[in-house]
Amino acid sequence: MQAKHKFSIALHGGAGTILKHLMSPALEQEHILALKVALDSGSRLLKEGASALDAVEASVRSLEDCPLFNAGRGSVFNHEGKHEMDAAIMEGTLGKAGAVCGVSGVKNPVSLARNVMEKSPHVLLCGEGAIRFALEQNLPLESEEYFFNQVRYDQWKEAKAEQNILLDHSSSNSDKKFGTVGAVALDMNGNLAAATSTGGMTNKQWGRIGDSPIIGAGTWASQESCAVSCTGHGEYFMRAVVAHDIHCLMYYKGLTLHAATGLLVHDKLKRSGGEGGLIAIDKLGNIAMPFNSEGMYRACCSQDGQEQILIYKS
Ligand code: ASP
Repeated sequence: MQAKHKFSIALHGGAGTILKHLMSPALEQEHILALKVALDSGSRLLKEGASALDAVEASVRSLEDCPLFNAGRGSVFNHEGKHEMDAAIMEGTLGKAGAVCGVSGVKNPVSLARNVMEKSPHVLLCGEGAIRFALEQNLPLESEEYFFNQVRYDQWKEAKAEQNILLDHSSSNSDKKFGTVGAVALDMNGNLAAATSTGGMTNKQWGRIGDSPIIGAGTWASQESCAVSCTGHGEYFMRAVVAHDIHCLMYYKGLTLHAATGLLVHDKLKRSGGEGGLIAIDKLGNIAMPFNSEGMYRACCSQDGQEQILIYKS
Protein backbone atom coordinates (compact mmCIF):
# COMPACT_ATOMS: atom_id res chain seq x y z
CA MET A 1 0.00 0.00 0.00
CA GLN A 2 1.34 3.41 -0.93
CA ALA A 3 2.11 5.66 2.03
CA LYS A 4 -0.06 8.79 1.99
CA HIS A 5 2.37 10.96 3.98
CA LYS A 6 6.00 11.85 4.04
CA PHE A 7 7.60 11.47 7.43
CA SER A 8 9.31 14.14 9.50
CA ILE A 9 10.98 14.20 12.88
CA ALA A 10 12.52 16.72 15.28
CA LEU A 11 14.41 16.34 18.54
CA HIS A 12 15.99 18.43 21.28
CA GLY A 13 18.76 17.98 23.81
CA GLY A 14 17.87 20.86 26.14
CA ALA A 15 17.75 24.65 26.06
CA GLY A 16 19.63 27.21 28.12
CA THR A 17 22.66 29.46 28.29
CA ILE A 18 24.40 27.82 25.37
CA LEU A 19 26.77 30.30 23.73
CA LYS A 20 29.19 29.64 20.89
CA HIS A 21 32.04 31.60 22.43
CA LEU A 22 31.80 29.49 25.59
CA MET A 23 31.74 26.15 23.76
CA SER A 24 34.93 24.37 22.75
CA PRO A 25 35.00 23.13 19.13
CA ALA A 26 35.50 19.56 20.35
CA LEU A 27 32.45 19.65 22.63
CA GLU A 28 30.38 21.28 19.91
CA GLN A 29 31.29 18.44 17.54
CA GLU A 30 30.42 15.83 20.17
CA HIS A 31 26.96 17.33 20.56
CA ILE A 32 26.39 17.59 16.83
CA LEU A 33 27.40 13.97 16.36
CA ALA A 34 25.17 12.77 19.21
CA LEU A 35 22.19 14.70 17.80
CA LYS A 36 22.87 13.25 14.34
CA VAL A 37 23.00 9.68 15.69
CA ALA A 38 19.70 10.24 17.55
CA LEU A 39 18.07 11.81 14.49
CA ASP A 40 19.19 8.93 12.28
CA SER A 41 17.88 6.32 14.69
CA GLY A 42 14.38 7.83 14.47
CA SER A 43 14.35 8.78 10.80
CA ARG A 44 15.70 5.39 9.69
CA LEU A 45 12.72 3.72 11.35
CA LEU A 46 10.27 6.20 9.82
CA LYS A 47 11.75 5.62 6.37
CA GLU A 48 11.14 1.88 6.81
CA GLY A 49 7.47 2.61 7.62
CA ALA A 50 7.65 2.34 11.41
CA SER A 51 5.27 4.30 13.64
CA ALA A 52 5.94 7.78 14.99
CA LEU A 53 5.82 6.18 18.45
CA ASP A 54 8.68 3.78 17.62
CA ALA A 55 10.68 6.64 16.12
CA VAL A 56 10.40 9.02 19.09
CA GLU A 57 11.21 6.21 21.50
CA ALA A 58 14.31 5.23 19.46
CA SER A 59 15.59 8.81 19.21
CA VAL A 60 15.05 9.50 22.90
CA ARG A 61 16.72 6.20 23.87
CA SER A 62 19.73 7.19 21.83
CA LEU A 63 19.94 10.52 23.69
CA GLU A 64 19.35 8.78 27.05
CA ASP A 65 22.32 6.51 26.38
CA CYS A 66 24.58 9.49 25.64
CA PRO A 67 26.22 11.01 28.75
CA LEU A 68 26.22 14.46 27.13
CA PHE A 69 22.52 14.98 27.84
CA ASN A 70 20.56 15.27 31.08
CA ALA A 71 18.47 12.12 30.70
CA GLY A 72 19.12 8.42 31.34
CA ARG A 73 22.87 7.88 31.67
CA GLY A 74 23.73 11.61 31.81
CA SER A 75 21.10 12.55 34.44
CA VAL A 76 21.98 15.27 36.95
CA PHE A 77 22.28 14.74 40.71
CA ASN A 78 19.48 15.74 43.10
CA HIS A 79 20.10 17.31 46.53
CA GLU A 80 20.79 13.89 48.03
CA GLY A 81 23.38 13.07 45.37
CA LYS A 82 21.02 10.63 43.61
CA HIS A 83 19.54 10.45 40.13
CA GLU A 84 15.77 10.72 39.85
CA MET A 85 14.49 10.62 36.30
CA ASP A 86 11.19 11.55 34.64
CA ALA A 87 9.89 10.58 31.18
CA ALA A 88 6.71 10.57 29.12
CA ILE A 89 5.47 9.35 25.77
CA MET A 90 2.18 10.05 23.95
CA GLU A 91 0.64 9.12 20.62
CA GLY A 92 -1.79 11.34 18.75
CA THR A 93 -4.26 8.90 17.21
CA LEU A 94 -6.02 7.55 20.30
CA GLY A 95 -4.42 10.01 22.73
CA LYS A 96 -2.77 7.19 24.68
CA ALA A 97 -0.01 8.28 27.06
CA GLY A 98 2.41 6.80 29.57
CA ALA A 99 4.84 8.43 32.00
CA VAL A 100 7.15 7.76 34.91
CA CYS A 101 8.62 10.10 37.51
CA GLY A 102 11.21 9.97 40.25
CA VAL A 103 12.73 6.72 38.99
CA SER A 104 16.30 5.66 39.78
CA GLY A 105 18.40 2.99 38.11
CA VAL A 106 16.22 2.56 35.02
CA LYS A 107 18.42 2.57 31.92
CA ASN A 108 15.82 3.96 29.53
CA PRO A 109 12.97 5.76 31.31
CA VAL A 110 11.26 6.52 27.98
CA SER A 111 10.79 2.79 27.35
CA LEU A 112 9.39 2.36 30.84
CA ALA A 113 6.92 5.18 30.07
CA ARG A 114 5.92 3.33 26.89
CA ASN A 115 5.38 0.15 28.89
CA VAL A 116 3.17 2.07 31.33
CA MET A 117 1.14 3.25 28.33
CA GLU A 118 0.86 -0.14 26.65
CA LYS A 119 1.01 -2.70 29.46
CA SER A 120 -0.66 -1.06 32.43
CA PRO A 121 -4.09 0.53 32.93
CA HIS A 122 -2.37 3.72 34.17
CA VAL A 123 -0.79 6.86 32.74
CA LEU A 124 1.77 7.87 35.40
CA LEU A 125 3.78 5.69 37.77
CA CYS A 126 6.24 7.10 40.30
CA GLY A 127 9.30 6.03 42.30
CA GLU A 128 9.42 2.52 43.76
CA GLY A 129 6.18 1.45 42.09
CA ALA A 130 7.53 2.43 38.69
CA ILE A 131 10.78 0.57 39.35
CA ARG A 132 8.91 -2.56 40.41
CA PHE A 133 6.90 -2.31 37.20
CA ALA A 134 10.17 -2.00 35.22
CA LEU A 135 11.38 -5.24 36.83
CA GLU A 136 8.10 -6.99 36.01
CA GLN A 137 8.49 -5.87 32.40
CA ASN A 138 12.11 -7.09 32.32
CA LEU A 139 13.44 -3.66 31.44
CA PRO A 140 17.17 -3.18 32.11
CA LEU A 141 18.31 -1.47 35.31
CA GLU A 142 21.80 -0.07 35.83
CA SER A 143 24.00 0.51 38.88
CA GLU A 144 24.84 3.94 40.29
CA GLU A 145 28.25 3.78 38.58
CA TYR A 146 26.55 3.71 35.18
CA PHE A 147 24.91 7.06 35.95
CA PHE A 148 28.00 8.63 37.57
CA ASN A 149 29.51 11.52 35.64
CA GLN A 150 32.32 13.64 37.06
CA VAL A 151 31.16 16.82 35.30
CA ARG A 152 27.66 16.47 36.72
CA TYR A 153 29.06 15.60 40.14
CA ASP A 154 31.14 18.80 40.16
CA GLN A 155 28.10 20.83 39.01
CA TRP A 156 26.07 19.35 41.83
CA LYS A 157 28.75 20.05 44.46
CA GLU A 158 28.97 23.65 43.27
CA ALA A 159 25.18 24.09 43.20
CA LYS A 160 24.82 22.54 46.65
CA ALA A 161 27.52 24.78 48.11
CA GLU A 162 25.76 27.83 46.67
CA GLN A 163 22.32 26.48 47.68
CA ASN A 164 21.22 26.72 44.05
CA ILE A 165 18.80 24.60 42.05
CA LEU A 166 20.07 24.71 38.52
CA LEU A 167 18.71 24.11 35.11
CA ASP A 168 21.48 21.89 33.88
CA HIS A 169 22.42 24.13 30.98
CA SER A 170 22.44 27.23 33.21
CA SER A 171 25.43 25.98 35.15
CA SER A 172 28.10 28.56 35.81
CA ASN A 173 30.51 26.22 34.07
CA SER A 174 29.17 27.14 30.67
CA ASP A 175 31.59 25.02 28.72
CA LYS A 176 29.76 21.94 29.94
CA LYS A 177 26.15 22.08 28.87
CA PHE A 178 23.72 19.20 29.03
CA GLY A 179 19.98 19.04 28.79
CA THR A 180 16.67 17.24 28.88
CA VAL A 181 15.88 15.36 25.69
CA GLY A 182 12.80 14.91 23.55
CA ALA A 183 11.52 13.94 20.12
CA VAL A 184 8.38 14.50 18.04
CA ALA A 185 7.52 12.72 14.79
CA LEU A 186 4.98 12.31 11.99
CA ASP A 187 5.00 8.88 10.36
CA MET A 188 4.05 7.82 6.84
CA ASN A 189 0.54 6.92 7.99
CA GLY A 190 0.04 10.46 9.23
CA ASN A 191 0.30 9.61 12.94
CA LEU A 192 1.95 11.93 15.46
CA ALA A 193 3.87 11.09 18.64
CA ALA A 194 5.99 12.87 21.26
CA ALA A 195 8.42 11.75 23.97
CA THR A 196 10.48 13.56 26.63
CA SER A 197 13.04 12.31 29.15
CA THR A 198 15.02 14.14 31.85
CA GLY A 199 17.08 13.98 34.99
CA GLY A 200 15.41 17.25 36.04
CA MET A 201 17.37 20.05 37.69
CA THR A 202 20.75 19.85 39.44
CA ASN A 203 20.41 19.83 43.24
CA LYS A 204 16.60 19.57 43.00
CA GLN A 205 14.78 18.62 46.16
CA TRP A 206 14.23 14.89 46.66
CA GLY A 207 10.86 14.04 45.12
CA ARG A 208 10.69 17.14 42.90
CA ILE A 209 8.98 16.41 39.58
CA GLY A 210 9.24 18.70 36.57
CA ASP A 211 7.09 19.26 33.50
CA SER A 212 8.56 16.50 31.32
CA PRO A 213 6.41 13.57 32.58
CA ILE A 214 3.28 15.69 33.04
CA ILE A 215 1.01 15.06 30.08
CA GLY A 216 -0.05 18.43 28.69
CA ALA A 217 2.79 20.36 30.38
CA GLY A 218 6.07 19.03 28.91
CA THR A 219 4.72 16.39 26.54
CA TRP A 220 1.64 16.17 24.32
CA ALA A 221 0.42 14.65 21.04
CA SER A 222 -2.93 14.92 19.27
CA GLN A 223 -3.92 14.15 15.71
CA GLU A 224 -6.13 17.25 15.92
CA SER A 225 -3.17 19.57 16.27
CA CYS A 226 0.44 18.58 16.87
CA ALA A 227 3.03 16.74 18.94
CA VAL A 228 5.14 18.73 21.44
CA SER A 229 8.16 18.08 23.68
CA CYS A 230 9.40 20.88 25.98
CA THR A 231 12.63 21.73 27.77
CA GLY A 232 13.31 24.45 30.29
CA HIS A 233 12.46 25.50 33.83
CA GLY A 234 9.78 22.92 34.56
CA GLU A 235 7.83 24.85 37.19
CA TYR A 236 7.00 27.58 34.64
CA PHE A 237 6.09 25.04 31.95
CA MET A 238 3.77 23.24 34.37
CA ARG A 239 1.97 26.39 35.45
CA ALA A 240 1.52 27.44 31.82
CA VAL A 241 0.50 23.89 30.75
CA VAL A 242 2.60 24.67 27.69
CA ALA A 243 2.18 21.63 25.45
CA HIS A 244 -1.60 21.40 25.85
CA ASP A 245 -1.97 25.16 25.49
CA ILE A 246 -0.35 24.91 22.05
CA HIS A 247 -2.87 22.21 21.17
CA CYS A 248 -5.74 24.45 22.33
CA LEU A 249 -4.53 27.44 20.34
CA MET A 250 -4.42 25.30 17.21
CA TYR A 251 -7.55 23.22 17.79
CA TYR A 252 -9.93 25.83 19.19
CA LYS A 253 -8.53 29.02 17.73
CA GLY A 254 -7.10 27.78 14.44
CA LEU A 255 -3.59 29.13 14.97
CA THR A 256 -0.77 27.66 12.88
CA LEU A 257 1.94 25.59 14.54
CA HIS A 258 4.42 28.46 14.29
CA ALA A 259 1.98 31.04 15.67
CA ALA A 260 0.90 28.83 18.59
CA THR A 261 4.40 27.71 19.62
CA GLY A 262 5.79 31.24 19.19
CA LEU A 263 3.05 32.68 21.39
CA LEU A 264 3.80 30.27 24.19
CA VAL A 265 7.59 30.53 24.10
CA HIS A 266 8.12 34.19 23.25
CA ASP A 267 5.09 35.69 24.96
CA LYS A 268 3.36 33.64 27.68
CA LEU A 269 6.45 31.90 29.08
CA LYS A 270 8.74 34.85 28.63
CA ARG A 271 6.40 37.20 30.46
CA SER A 272 6.34 34.85 33.46
CA GLY A 273 10.13 34.38 33.44
CA GLY A 274 10.01 30.82 32.11
CA GLU A 275 13.24 30.07 30.29
CA GLY A 276 13.36 27.30 27.71
CA GLY A 277 12.01 26.06 24.44
CA LEU A 278 10.26 23.22 22.68
CA ILE A 279 10.01 21.20 19.52
CA ALA A 280 6.68 20.62 17.79
CA ILE A 281 5.39 19.03 14.62
CA ASP A 282 1.91 19.18 13.08
CA LYS A 283 -0.05 16.70 10.99
CA LEU A 284 1.14 18.38 7.79
CA GLY A 285 4.74 17.80 8.81
CA ASN A 286 5.52 21.43 9.67
CA ILE A 287 8.22 21.70 12.32
CA ALA A 288 8.72 24.48 14.91
CA MET A 289 11.67 24.66 17.33
CA PRO A 290 11.33 28.00 19.22
CA PHE A 291 13.26 28.88 22.37
CA ASN A 292 13.69 32.02 24.48
CA SER A 293 17.07 31.06 25.95
CA GLU A 294 20.51 31.61 24.42
CA GLY A 295 20.49 28.27 22.68
CA MET A 296 18.82 24.89 22.32
CA TYR A 297 20.36 21.65 21.10
CA ARG A 298 18.01 20.65 18.30
CA ALA A 299 17.80 18.68 15.08
CA CYS A 300 15.17 17.82 12.51
CA CYS A 301 14.56 16.00 9.28
CA SER A 302 11.76 17.64 7.29
CA GLN A 303 9.43 16.08 4.75
CA ASP A 304 11.70 16.99 1.85
CA GLY A 305 14.50 15.02 3.52
CA GLN A 306 16.44 18.15 4.57
CA GLU A 307 18.33 17.71 7.83
CA GLN A 308 19.26 20.48 10.24
CA ILE A 309 21.35 20.22 13.39
CA LEU A 310 21.52 23.46 15.36
CA ILE A 311 22.70 24.69 18.75
CA TYR A 312 22.74 28.48 18.93
CA LYS A 313 20.39 31.29 18.00
CA SER A 314 20.64 31.71 14.25
N1 ASP B 1 12.12 20.66 32.08
C1 ASP B 1 13.04 19.91 32.91
C2 ASP B 1 12.58 19.95 34.34
O1 ASP B 1 12.20 21.01 34.81
C3 ASP B 1 14.45 20.41 32.84
C4 ASP B 1 15.01 20.64 31.46
O2 ASP B 1 14.28 20.77 30.49
O3 ASP B 1 16.26 20.69 31.34
O4 ASP B 1 12.66 18.94 34.99
